[in-house]
Amino acid sequence: MLARAALACALVAALGAAGCRGPYRDVAERIANDAGRSDGAYVKVAALATEVGARLSGTPALERAIAWARDTLARDGHENVALEPVTVPHWSRGAEAAEIVAPAPRKLAVLALGGSVGTPPEGVTAEVAVVSTFEELAALGAGARGKIVLFDHAMRAGEPPGASYGHALPFRREGASRAAKLGAVAVLVRSLTARSLGAPHTGAMKYADDGSPRIPAAAISVEDAELLARLAHLGPVKVHLALGAETHPGAPSANVIAELRGRERPDEIVVISAHLDSWDVGQGAQDDGAGCAIVMESLATLRRLGLRPRRTIRVVLYTNEENGGAGANGYAAAHAAELPRHVAAFEVDSGAGAPRGFSTDGPQPWAGDAKRLANLLAPIRATAIIPSFPGEDIMALKRAGVPLLGLSLDNEHYFDVHHSVADTLDKIDPANLRRDVAALATMAYVVADRAETWRR
Ligand code: ZN
Ligand code: ZN
Repeated sequence: MLARAALACALVAALGAAGCRGPYRDVAERIANDAGRSDGAYVKVAALATEVGARLSGTPALERAIAWARDTLARDGHENVALEPVTVPHWSRGAEAAEIVAPAPRKLAVLALGGSVGTPPEGVTAEVAVVSTFEELAALGAGARGKIVLFDHAMRAGEPPGASYGHALPFRREGASRAAKLGAVAVLVRSLTARSLGAPHTGAMKYADDGSPRIPAAAISVEDAELLARLAHLGPVKVHLALGAETHPGAPSANVIAELRGRERPDEIVVISAHLDSWDVGQGAQDDGAGCAIVMESLATLRRLGLRPRRTIRVVLYTNEENGGAGANGYAAAHAAELPRHVAAFEVDSGAGAPRGFSTDGPQPWAGDAKRLANLLAPIRATAIIPSFPGEDIMALKRAGVPLLGLSLDNEHYFDVHHSVADTLDKIDPANLRRDVAALATMAYVVADRAETWRR
């Protein structure tokens, strides 16, 4: 009878229904109640967005953000608050401008892509060739010589935003070198967003290491990309592009670390992480100020509640996610000896939407078990375990076999503002952040506390 009752209870618990008290249900409820009453995460992201704002690697603003994070983690009473030095790339955009010069003058909103070379001071003026795929570029062939190639590949509203972004990303990242091989003098890239209000969205690009010329690359708005495509359909269109972008010597920076030490196995680690750097436009509020705030407040919540898990939970706020990954690589190198004792790594880097659950970098043997744990989050509707990309920074831990989990958030409107002047605090709903903190704090605590770990 007892066995049957226990089985029924386990089934009900697995389905996430109320009434059965699984071992961590009380903990999940306490965390959800505390997080649900606290504006701690919103206060943190508001401070970062307001007092620091945009913070690209190599700038004094990023170093202010790092000092702010260290001081805030120390004020929250955490253990082992520390900076771990890393050298980061330093790129600056300088002054920039673009306009249509023929058939009739019209200004274009432009943002150089991160890593792009500048133009000569007088800029480049050339006819525009429009393509929307690499196949169209190949078909253009010698027709690209001397031209400014526009990659007009659309992210469409209604498609899953993450997947749609993934499909458009190669044009931003590799477009310049691909077009340069055919003799293009510069590239413009349609911004990676499905909804636009006239703002261009920047992001990283990378030149191929094959000796092809390094040509300037810039993002333009969706509206301007479509305008150029329509004009080019009617006849020759000439654009003038001037970019003051420059790459400087590497600069000193740091990852920020803080811990809630484990009560029984402090040498075993659960990482909860986000990235502190941002692009140099907007306020870096959703990318990734919100992630930093959710991570920091999750640790603060556990500490406030006196919930000290069996293992250590370590906050890692990486530097230089956006244009280099030096922070993530630096962490993996500095902690190589203890990576076999990392029992899981969480990352939060997909905006500030409502929580959906966790992404697991493809199907994992432990996904079923993760799903059972995530059922604790049924009251805040964050029970999904999704076999998709968990976050750029923790991928550096993949080779060491660390189980990876991204906090999956509703990203329906994330790419609307991502990497643009519109990534600002006003787009963030504090109610979402409360639930995001509850989801991360609960899952991190349970993974750090329970007897079992996931087979690596
Ligand atoms: Zn990010
Ligand atoms: Zn980003």
